[in-house]
Amino acid sequence: RILLTQVFDQYRENIKGIAMTVQDITREVELNEAKSQFISNVSHELRTPLFNIKSFIETLYEYGEDLSEEERREFLHTANNETDRLTRLVNDVLDLSRLESSKTYKLEAVELARPIEQTLRTYQLNAKDKGIELTQEIESELPSVLGHYDLLLQVFANLVGNSLKFTAEGGRVTIRAYTIESENSVREEVQKVRVEVSDTGTGIDPEDQQAIFERFFRVENRVHTLEGTGLGLSIVRNIVEKHHSRVHLISEVSLGSTFWFDLEVYKDDDLLAQAGIP
Ligand code: ADP
Repeated sequence: RILLTQVFDQYRENIKGIAMTVQDITREVELNEAKSQFISNVSHELRTPLFNIKSFIETLYEYGEDLSEEERREFLHTANNETDRLTRLVNDVLDLSRLESSKTYKLEAVELARPIEQTLRTYQLNAKDKGIELTQEIESELPSVLGHYDLLLQVFANLVGNSLKFTAEGGRVTIRAYTIESENSVREEVQKVRVEVSDTGTGIDPEDQQAIFERFFRVENRVHTLEGTGLGLSIVRNIVEKHHSRVHLISEVSLGSTFWFDLEVYKDDDLLAQAGIP
């Protein structure tokens, strides 16, 4: 502004007027920086398993005959695990970029009992193997929510998957869904459905509780961390935001964690509103 005033004063005689366009590009710059950071992180994360796979295959190819049968099997086993890890990474990156590029998803009536039961069926065997009790507590006559079935299924899968990873034998993982009274943006009392996934696992240090929702963040020195991609909770946060809500976390080290969010109750006129019909 100072510079413009000086220019204006200098040419006052000849200037009839000034038209000025000021554009705040801070957000754009930040988004671009976040994007480059993401691409650089993705490349780094993809390179590690690729490098490992290449090394194991190369060793087998060049020196396979000098190795024992047991060593050869061990190398193939590791290369196979690294391929699985690469697949998980690529799938997660694709999911996340799909979520980020499409601004809106069509939300419809979802009976939460269905994706919850499907999640339990998928993970029950894994839970039994680990000696963890995996259960659900769904309020009877729970109203349908305004949601996206497949995306909600993914939220449950990611949260339950994490809980099972970070809970020891003898622990419990529970999915809950119940109605609560909440205030909407115009301060009216409305009913919402609260969804919780809680575990009696390792818990998360208060100083990491914010960061775990960031892409690729994984708490250091944890067993099992190799299984993860560090993208699961970013995907969860993104999906919950697509439902116009936020994920919260209550966690205490050694006691366990509860991830929770609220969903809107489905009303018959929701579909009309989405179609732009008042
Ligand atoms: P990952 O694929 O590594 O699980 P996430 O984004 O899902 O990636 O989680 C990020 C990190 O947050 C995990 O690596 C772990 O350190 C921590 N975390 C997530 N869920 C839990 C949980 N239920 N209990 C303890 N730690 C958790």
